[in-house]
Amino acid sequence: MSQKGNITFTMIKPGAIANEHMGSIMNMISKAGFWIAAIKFIKLSQKQAEEFYLVHKDRPFYGSLVEFMTSGPIIVAVLEKDNAVSDYRKLIGATDPSKAEDGTIRKIFAESIERNAVHGSDSNENAIIEADFFFARSERFDRII
Ligand code: ATP
Ligand code: MG
Repeated sequence: MSQKGNITFTMIKPGAIANEHMGSIMNMISKAGFWIAAIKFIKLSQKQAEEFYLVHKDRPFYGSLVEFMTSGPIIVAVLEKDNAVSDYRKLIGATDPSKAEDGTIRKIFAESIERNAVHGSDSNENAIIEADFFFARSERFDRII
């Protein structure tokens, strides 16, 4: 697969899906210029959630975070754009929605620091690891336009 820009990986978390914000969030992502290179609707297993958040295993919120992330369906997606990682973190806003800027996805849709609507990769290296964790090559598509 060739890519015209960098990639980032995102999840729309269970709270935002349960509150029916999937469409609004995907619309904000597209309007901000990200190409949706891959997408699926899944439910994380305990094992997948534990592995995905392994870097946080010693943090006090790890157990609760894994429980939340396995509590219902999520969207996983690969997004392509120049400067995808940093531009996407700007679009989603701070981890804690009370500190997120107006107009960001987390400011608009997060319920709390844990139930903060979306995930976004924190580096190019992790974006590739996370995208490969969920998607086969055959499930990823180049920008059409
Ligand atoms: P993400 O990795 O989901 O994009 P982030 O990089 O902004 O978020 P991290 O520090 O990687 O934040 O934390 C991962 C996730 O753990 C957060 O998105 C949030 O759901 C949860 N989390 C982080 N800090 C706390 C906290 N203090 N209390 C409860 N949950 C937290
Ligand atoms: Mg993170």
